[in-house]
Amino acid sequence: MAIAPELLELLACPAPECRGRLAVADERLVCARCGRRYRVEMSWPVLIPEEAEAPPSAVQPAKE
Ligand SMILES: [Zn+2]
Repeated sequence: MAIAPELLELLACPAPECRGRLAVADERLVCARCGRRYRVEMSWPVLIPEEAEAPPSAVQPAKE
């Protein structure tokens, strides 16, 4: 998978209540705040909350 670091800098979790930073892990983009995992297709991240893999139930969304 090749996501340019510059692109990654611009991306944020698409969940409206989250908007956390994303990091590449395991060929997916993982939100640092809510733990949702977004798959990457054709080097393009699929940032659709409904298509995200749910985080482990132990992980709760961060509160600010
Ligand atoms: Zn998130």
